[in-house]
Formats: sequence, C-alpha cells, structure tokens
Amino acid sequence: MTSSNLAQNNIDLEDLYQEVILEHSRRPRFKSKLDGCDLCEEGKNPLCGDAITVYCKIQRNEHRPPCLSVCFHGSGCSISQASASMMCEALQNVTFEQAKKAIQNAEEIYTGKVSCSDDIEQDVQALYGVSKFPVRIKCAALAWKTMEWLLNHHFDESGSLKQKQEMENQSNTMNAKKKLKVISTDEG
Ligand code: ZN
Repeated sequence: MTSSNLAQNNIDLEDLYQEVILEHSRRPRFKSKLDGCDLCEEGKNPLCGDAITVYCKIQRNEHRPPCLSVCFHGSGCSISQASASMMCEALQNVTFEQAKKAIQNAEEIYTGKVSCSDDIEQDVQALYGVSKFPVRIKCAALAWKTMEWLLNHHFDESGSLKQKQEMENQSNTMNAKKKLKVISTDEG
C-alpha cells in the first residue's frame, strides 16, 4: 500500500499501532533462552501474570566500549510479549549508554509523554497506543524495567561492569536458585 493510499483510507493510527503489537506478539523476535549469556534477570508483572527473563550477552571490545545484545524468554499477554520483542530488536550490539537511552526513550513512549521521536525505533513507537490504558502500561514496561534493573545491578554509572567477584557470586546464585524478582512498574 502506498502512502497516498494510506492517507486516502485514513487509517487510524491506533489500528496501525495495534497491528504492530499483534505482529510482534505473534512472531516475537529474539525470543530464546540464551545459553552462555553473561547476565540475566527475571521480571514479573503480577497484575497481569506476565513473566519475562531477559538474557544479556556482552561482547568485549579492545578499544571500544563493550556491546550488549539481548534476548528474552517468558510468557504473558500480547503487549508484554510484543514489548519484549521490540526491546530486544532495539538492543542488539548497543553500548551501555545506548541501551540506557533506548530504555528511557521507550518509557516516554509507553507512558505517553511523547508520541514519537526520531531517536526511537519505529516499532517501539507503537507502544504509545498502550499509554491510554494505565493497567497495560505495566505490561509494556515489564521487559524494559527488567532490563533497566539488569543494567543498574551489574554496571556502575560509568558503564563498566561491576567487579568480577561480585558477578560470579551473582551467577552462582542464579544457577543455584532461580529467583523471581517482582518488578514494580508503578509511577512515582
Ligand atoms: Zn500483561
């Protein structure tokens, strides 16, 4: 369909948003358990029953900052799944700084603070449609909040990984006992 057709048919933006979300939830990108991942965190949205694990692989570079790539696994409503899929698509080979920025931008979209931005992947902008339904914002937020928690937990403010010993303890704990963290997506 050409853009002029789109205009003629006056397709409702909300329908378009819904289509993008449905498409992602039907065919989620980067949905797999990542064996040998460097970091992972689990998040839950008890209000809806969404549960997502975010897996993060870190590619260390000699002269450049390390790059992160993310995939996810879990189950939940179509919004939580679609949002996780969009997030993983946005967070491939990104630096810590880029990941933080993407998470921040996405939050502005799904909370309805901004409706679009050139800095944000087009599909992620579809989450703006969710902002009109406060209960569903928590579904959209889950993957991003879990990823944000992972970054804050494992990296210091400058984007360097926290001490190795600390990380090893973390992964030992993770292997020994799967613990579910309840991510709160409440506003202020
Ligand atoms: Zn949900």
